[in-house]
Parts: sequence; C-alpha cells; structure tokens
Amino acid sequence: MAKGKVLLVLYEGGSHAKEVPALLGCLENELGIRKFVEDNGYELVTTSDKDPEPTSQVDKELADAEIVITTPFFPAYITKTRIAKAPNLKIAITAGVGSDHVDLNAANERKITVTEVTGSNVVSVAEHVIMTILVLIRNFVPAHLQAIGDQWDIAGAAKQEYDLEDKVISTVGAGRIGFRVLERLIAFNPKKLYYYDYQELPAEAIQKLNDVSKILNGRDNIVERVESLEEMVSKSDVVTINCPLHEKSKGLFNKELISKMKKGSYLVNTARGAICIEQDVADAVNSGHIAGYGGDVWFPQPAPKTHPWRSMKNDFGGGNAMTPHVSGTSLDAQARYAAGVKDILKEYFAGTHNYRPQDVIVIDGDYATKAYGQRNKK
Ligand code: NAD
Repeated sequence: MAKGKVLLVLYEGGSHAKEVPALLGCLENELGIRKFVEDNGYELVTTSDKDPEPTSQVDKELADAEIVITTPFFPAYITKTRIAKAPNLKIAITAGVGSDHVDLNAANERKITVTEVTGSNVVSVAEHVIMTILVLIRNFVPAHLQAIGDQWDIAGAAKQEYDLEDKVISTVGAGRIGFRVLERLIAFNPKKLYYYDYQELPAEAIQKLNDVSKILNGRDNIVERVESLEEMVSKSDVVTINCPLHEKSKGLFNKELISKMKKGSYLVNTARGAICIEQDVADAVNSGHIAGYGGDVWFPQPAPKTHPWRSMKNDFGGGNAMTPHVSGTSLDAQARYAAGVKDILKEYFAGTHNYRPQDVIVIDGDYATKAYGQRNKK
C-alpha cells in the first residue's frame, strides 16, 4: 500500500524521448524521478491527458493525489474547481519557473504549498529574449524564408532590417530574467535601458551594468528605473516583458497600453501569454502600429490552431517571432529543474519541508514571494 500518490503531468515526447534520454521533461522520461518516488513509498502516476476539465485523466487522478507536479510548458491548470475536488492535495510543484497555472489564491485558502525551481531556466529564457529581439529587429524570418525558398530579394528583406545598437530597450520586470536580459543587452551598445518594476534593483546591480557599459561602449548611466509604464513604452524601440502573471499583470498589454508604444517598435514576451490581450497584439502587428511581436508563451497552452499569434504579420510579411513554449526548456534547463523537483520532493517526503526559500511561492495560506504582485502581508 503506497503512502500516497504523486501525479506528474508532462508533454508527450514520443520518439524524441527515446532518441534523447536527456529530454527529462517529457512523459516518457518522467523527470528521472520514478525510482526515487517509489523508493520513498509513493505511487507515481504520469499523464499528458490534462484537458478538458473536468473529464481528463488529470481530473480523475487529482481526486486522491497528494502531490501534483506539472510544467509551465504544458501546464495542467490547477484551477479552483480542480483544487476543490482534490481533498488530499498538499503540494503543487512546478518543474520550471512560473506557477500561475495554479490558482494561488485557492491554494492559499486550502493551505496547499506551491513551489517551483526558481532560477532553473532564467539564463535559458534570457538567451531566448535576446534571440527574439534580434530575429525581429534584423527581420530574420522573411530573409530565412527567402534562403530556403530559392529566392534572392535583398531589398525585400532589408527594407525592415535594423541594428540593435543605439536603440532604447526596456523591460517590464527586472527580476532574475529581466536583469539577465539587461546584462546581455549591454554587449549591443544600446542608447538606454529602462526597467519598470515595483521592486528596485540593488544599487550594486545597476552599478555593475553601468560600469560594463562604460568600459565596453563608453556610455555612462545607461540603466534607469521608471515610474510610468506608459511613458517607458512610448520611448522604447523594444519592450520585453519579464514579470510573473498575476491579478495586476493579467491583460496589462491591452489596446490602450499598446497604443502608447512607439510606432514601429517591437514587443517581446516570454513571461506569460495572458499578460497580453491576444487580439490587441495581433491587431497592432497586422495594422503596422508595432513592427513585430515575438516570444514563446500563449494562453491556453497548447495554443489553439486559430490563435491569432500564429498568423499575424506586418505589412512587409515579417514581425512574427513566435515559437511554442520552449525558451525555458533547453536540455540544460531540464537537467536543472528535474534535479530541483527531486530536492523539493526530498524535503516533502522527509517531512522537514525545509525548501529553498526562493522556491516557495505560497505556503501556510500566504504568499512567500514578493514577485506575484504587491499585496499587504497578513
Ligand atoms: P523573478 O521573481 O526573479 O522576477 C520577477 C520580477 O517581476 C520581480 O522583480 C517582480 O517585482 C516583477 N513584477 C511582478 N509584477 C510586475 C508588474 N506588474 N510590473 C512590473 N514588474 C513586475 O522571476 P523570473 O525568474 O525573472 O521569472 C519571471 C517570469 O518569467 C516567471 O514568473 C514566468 O512567468 C516567466 N518565465 C517564463 C519561462 C519560459 O519558458 N518562457 C521560463 C521561466 C520563467
């Protein structure tokens, strides 16, 4: 008789899982935790059947699960109604970073702990952000399509191709990912880097960025914190979103805010799809108000075939740098978040609950992090 049930929800790897055993984050390879879970006396049930609620395998298995583990890449949405039907659920673990797929307020009401593997893929995402900015600003996709489509129309690709150097770039959220994006951008000799965040970066962090900019590019005081998001987006050539999804960031980039963005600028979002209103973004790209949008996050996931971000493009046929949700799931990242999940389970199984503080999102009925919106602590 098992002590309890661990429900693990992951995307299918199919033949890729066999080809590349390092794809730990897929259904077949189960984060490499089966033996560990079973050695600790627990049952492990793994499934990719997560939708629709309430008829999926996830709904069935959650009824008596004690632990649920899922990833942001293929999230099982742990909604209020699912929580209400999971009386034994004690902890939800995110294999990755970003736990908005769990209804955190409902988890608090039930005193369910929510943890994630903080930091496990922040470099992976920061690299993807830089890549996406370059793909958009260098007009890579139309040029690449020419290359593999037997075409040679230099003017057609170059008419919307720019350098990143000397541009104004800003981030909404300057936490682990946002800061790493700023760090990496210095190498491109930007004119100015702005950040908007209710938590201020430490003075040493700003100093470090400014010092590197001075040494590399001869530019002083490159980084500045701003109070007004509207003003920041109106001055930026590129805006990147790097904050969690919560009540205050949901739908933040709507028609109104996007209308304040500089004409011909770019928006990059690897944070969460629901931070942007999907049709408002698509309208802004299709109408040419912004020159492009890119990222890897959607809502819901997997994105429906009809999602407007699949087909949007600017007048010149570019401006779409979307991928499926892959930025935080490089093989390097998978090794880190699989190890991090095991560390969290170790603490849970031992009954010590001595989790790394940065991994804890909610515990004992309250938020343990300041990243999911400003709120008054109890
Ligand atoms: P973090 O906690 O280190 O930093 C988040 C920052 O955002 C904090 O400084 C917080 O104060 C700030 N913030 C919160 N709400 C804000 C708002 N409305 N406006 C401005 N700033 C706000 O988190 P992180 O590791 O940098 O990750 C950020 C988010 O990126 C995650 O929550 C997740 O949603 C997303 N993410 C995506 C992937 C991916 O694969 N695409 C991978 C990892 C993380």
